[in-house]
Amino acid sequence: MLHIGCHLSTTKGYYNMVKTALSIDADTFAFFTRNPRGGNVKETDLKDMEDARESLKKNGFYPLVAHAPYTYNLCSEKEDIRDFSLRAMKEDLEKLEMLPGNYYNFHPGSHRGQGIARGIDLISAGLESILPYAKGTVVLLETMAGKGTEVGSDFRELRSIIDNTSYKDRIGVCFDTCHVYDGGYDIKDHLKEVLDEFDKIIGVEMIRAVHINDTKNPFSSHKDRHERIGFGTLGADTFKNIVRAPVLKDIPFILETPNDLEGYKKEIGLLRGFC
Ligand code: FE
Ligand code: FE
Ligand code: ZN
Repeated sequence: MLHIGCHLSTTKGYYNMVKTALSIDADTFAFFTRNPRGGNVKETDLKDMEDARESLKKNGFYPLVAHAPYTYNLCSEKEDIRDFSLRAMKEDLEKLEMLPGNYYNFHPGSHRGQGIARGIDLISAGLESILPYAKGTVVLLETMAGKGTEVGSDFRELRSIIDNTSYKDRIGVCFDTCHVYDGGYDIKDHLKEVLDEFDKIIGVEMIRAVHINDTKNPFSSHKDRHERIGFGTLGADTFKNIVRAPVLKDIPFILETPNDLEGYKKEIGLLRGFC
């Protein structure tokens, strides 16, 4: 069975997310470790965490894919933003130790004019300092669309970041289908070749999660605008191939499509039906 879920809101707590996930037939889900645009953390409710942990286990959930807020930027040109990002990521990882065995996904960063090489150096150094905190969590670099000065739209950039860090067993990649296509890899007509290329450059075993999104944009647009499955440029057939791809078997798939819960439930049914 395809292990799939969607992004859920943390506002009513962790246990509530598990209940919501169950109501839409999801067996994994994603959530922001704190407000996606701001930086505030809520006080951790230990009882809520414990209830969530028990329910995840009892219901046979697959690993979850927590998402770092968009405000973090490990390769900002501003030192205070880099410092804030590092502090916040350490806190997020410490909190995730209460839910061990899951993933923590983040956008590598935007170099903001400093150049890709400098961006890669800063991201690698940042990762090296936070990975000691990821004892029970695998940290995932997300493939990016290459909007503005984003680092990580070229597989070789992700490879360099990974190469520059120790703790290789604590790092993986989250493969975002919208981003990869917008970033210039044709998963619509050449999925096999793209996955082969990923394998040559990084190794497919490093793909630990998939963000499964259609895109509103034409190929290689470097724009990053998600669309519901089958309603965008990629189309339903592309997703049939993706969920059936042997190398993507047995990893969590997360929907980040513009949808409500009812819509997610339908997409989960649709994609499971493709398997
Ligand atoms: Fe993301
Ligand atoms: Fe994504
Ligand atoms: Zn996106």
